[in-house]
Formats: sequence, structure tokens, C-alpha cells
Amino acid sequence: MSTHKKDTLLVHALNVTKAFHGNEVLKGIDMDVSKGEVVCLLGPSGSGKTTFLRCINQLETIDGGRIWVDGDLIGFEDRGGTLHHLTDKAVAAQRRDIGMVFQRFNLFPHMTALENVMEAPIQVKGEKKKDVRERALALLEQVGLEDKPGAYPAQLSGGQQQRVAIARALAMRPKLMLFDEPTSALDPELVGEVLKVMRDLAADGMTMIVVTHEMGFAREVADRVVFMDGGVVVEQGRPSEVISNPQHDRTKSFLRRMR
Ligand code: ADP
Repeated sequence: MSTHKKDTLLVHALNVTKAFHGNEVLKGIDMDVSKGEVVCLLGPSGSGKTTFLRCINQLETIDGGRIWVDGDLIGFEDRGGTLHHLTDKAVAAQRRDIGMVFQRFNLFPHMTALENVMEAPIQVKGEKKKDVRERALALLEQVGLEDKPGAYPAQLSGGQQQRVAIARALAMRPKLMLFDEPTSALDPELVGEVLKVMRDLAADGMTMIVVTHEMGFAREVADRVVFMDGGVVVEQGRPSEVISNPQHDRTKSFLRRMR
């Protein structure tokens, strides 16, 4: 079970704000995630969940507040209110340690499953092809696709493509995995196979932040669920507390709609 000791924190976000064209979508998010912890972000569409994930991965720059990932500050506001961001090089270095899986699988269509998994370690990290190939084959096995290394994305189901996408993210040996509604673009019968891979990953001790509407997954796998609405964290706690016994009206009405 995860602890909340400061030295085990992997993500430490303080008062994070972000606006798009004057529309403030993150209104001061505080969130800590410990090593090995699985946190599910729940909340209605438009509440800022995806934006927050993208800020952690620096696909968006924050407007205010601070975020540390594994002890490194990735964006911060100084005392005078000036915001500092990392250099492009530092951003790239940080991002290498964070795996992200999107709603759409975003595989390279002209590459096989194996080539997709091998791409980043070779191109970004300059690792040796032979070593990466072995690791990529093992990862395809881990996600249940040991018989599909030569298949192109178009020859795979959505669930299989998403499993390749997970293997591809894992190939970089990330410290943290971010999942942005990884099953919401899938046909219902394919959701389970992707959730199983994520469940196994959680059981292996991977630190994960998962935006999802899969309440069963959140209930069974999350150490903590964080309910967001309107750009703020409304409540958080163990899934059994928040999902079974929500305290706030906004959480109650959201969960009623999810049933
Ligand atoms: P959620 O993941 O909870 O559905 P999002 O983070 O995707 O919420 O979106 C929060 C709000 O921010 C929405 O109103 C959305 O339209 C807006 N938004 C997100 N990304 C952009 C963007 N790149 N430009 C303008 N508005 C955006």
C-alpha cells in the first residue's frame, strides 16, 4: 500500500492554474502522487482532467503554481509572479521518463507493432537496436500480443492497438504512466483486455494517473480517486470512500449519472 511520505512523492503539484484564451480550466490544483500509487481522476467532461495530465507531461505549460516530477521542478512561479519554464532540452529529458497513453492510439500506421514499440528507445535514447528489440518483444508478450509483432495497426483491433500503445510507452522505462481515457474510444467488448493490462501494470508497482470513466476499474485498482469538477479538486480519497459514500453534491450527481 502506498504511503504519503514526502520522499516517496513522484508528482507534487501545487496551486496549478491554466487558462485557454481567458477561460480558466485549472483553478488551483493541488495533487500529490506517491511512487507506486494508482490515482484515478474522475469528473464530468470539461472539468480539466486531460489538461492537468497534459501539464504534468508538459504538453501544456502551466500559467501559475508549481509541478515537480520526481523531485524536479517542471514549471514554477517566482515570488514576483513571473512564471519560469524549463528549456526545451530539459522538457524533453523530463518527458522521456513519463509514458502517456491517449484515447486515440496514435500508432505510426506505416510501422509494425514491434517497430512502433522500438521507435522511441532507438530514436530518442539512441539505444542499441538488438537490446531494444528483445525488450520490445517482451513488452508485446506482457500486453498479450506476442503473436502480433509483424502486424500493422490497420490489421489490429482497437484494443490490440491500445495495448501496443501501452507497450510503446513502457519501452521508454517510464517512472510514471499517464492514461487519458484509454478505453473510451473502444468498442465495449474490447475495453476489458486493455483494463487487464493496466491492472497488471498497477500490480507490478507502476505509478499511474488514469483519467477514466470506468468506475469498476477505479474501484478495484485505484489507491485513490480524485474527483474534479470545474477546474478544482472537489474531493478525493479511497475509492470505497469517494465512490460509495461521496460527500459533495457535485460528486453525488456525477456518480448517479455514471451508473
Ligand atoms: P476533461 O478532460 O475533464 O474533459 P479538458 O481538460 O479536456 O477536460 O478540458 C477542460 C476545458 O478546457 C474544456 O472547456 C475544454 O474545451 C478546454 N480546452 C482544453 N484544451 C484546450 C485548448 N487547447 N484550447 C482551448 N480550450 C481548451
